[in-house]
Amino acid sequence: MKTYKDLAGKKIQLSIMAVVFICIAITAYVCMSYLKELYIGKIYIIGALAYASISLLAVAYLYSSLLDRLSQSEVRYQLAQADLIRLNKDANEQEKLTKLLRLALENDELTILYQPRVSTKTGKICGAEALVRWFHADVGWISPDEFIPVAEKSDLILQLGLWVVKTVCQNIKKWHDLGFSLKISINLSKYQFRQGDIVKDIAQILWDTQIAPYSLEIELTENVLLENPEKCALMLSVLRSMGVTILVDNFGTGNLPLSYLRRYPISALKIARTFVRNISLSSQDNGIVNAIIAMGKGLKLRIIAEGVETKEQAGYLIKHEVDELQGYHISLPLAEEEFSVKLQEDVVPIISLKH
Ligand code: C2E
Ligand code: CA
Repeated sequence: MKTYKDLAGKKIQLSIMAVVFICIAITAYVCMSYLKELYIGKIYIIGALAYASISLLAVAYLYSSLLDRLSQSEVRYQLAQADLIRLNKDANEQEKLTKLLRLALENDELTILYQPRVSTKTGKICGAEALVRWFHADVGWISPDEFIPVAEKSDLILQLGLWVVKTVCQNIKKWHDLGFSLKISINLSKYQFRQGDIVKDIAQILWDTQIAPYSLEIELTENVLLENPEKCALMLSVLRSMGVTILVDNFGTGNLPLSYLRRYPISALKIARTFVRNISLSSQDNGIVNAIIAMGKGLKLRIIAEGVETKEQAGYLIKHEVDELQGYHISLPLAEEEFSVKLQEDVVPIISLKH
């Protein structure tokens, strides 16, 4: 097979030959114009030389366009090779991470943090979002944004998700026994919802731990709710009839038709962080926040704002009668013991928001 370099050499050779022929033709013309008696022969010779030069130039041109096309496909080929190497490398990384994560689950390297949610009516902690974390001895803390997608590429997400539900329910039981009535929400991956027998698992765990089902909440993103709507409606109504509540996570960022808020047994909307972040900076985002609050209230849904980072944002959301606030301004996600301490301190974090 000819390579790019071979063809480049050929093009140069042909071009040189064409130039040589043209030079010979010109020289021949000049010499023969002095030999008037060979006038007929001169025409023939010049014609033949010109024909040869034009043919060679045409061949050189054809090679040149072929060369361009080849060079483009060679670039594409080299890019494809680079992609393949990167993908293989990524696949190796993925494989390594999956193995490590499997071990992490066996060796209890995963933990759950609880990020408090505060009621704007009572000013007290009324619940929390459970957020999984992985502590690896060499790497340190690994964010769920990194390892959940890895778990989702294998059946590990089902095992991990089940561990989260069990651990959270056991902790809810502890807090209930201490006299705290809380609603703790967990995030469910679309794969858990799609493949796993999650409804049956939750029912079993609720039975085993004997906690009040209303204290467990499920956070689902709009896109999960859009997948297979018939099956989703059925699963959600079974969960709801068990007493478990459903929240729409990151509301406003997906494609959920509003009619689905009626169709599904949804209890609350969590206004996406991205809208809360820009409150008061961009009136457009204020408009979105206001519209979500008005619509949620109209549908008698609880409204939770997540990602509340500043006093101004909190003030705005309280003024617009959002029911619960969650975010770094209220509290960072806390380890189980820290969260217990915070509950027992009976602090009223929201008071500091009302100046
Ligand atoms: P998410 O459901 O949107 O969770 C909220 C994320 O926002 C958390 O990140 C939380 O730490 C962060 N956050 C909370 N308050 C603030 C704030 O005021 N400002 C900013 N900038 N960020 C804030 P985290 O813990 O890294 O979780 C990332 C994502 O991982 C979660 O996003 C959730 O989708 C997923 N995740 C976490 N735990 C689980 C789990 O147990 N199962 C599944 N399937 N996914 C989980
Ligand atoms: Ca969430």
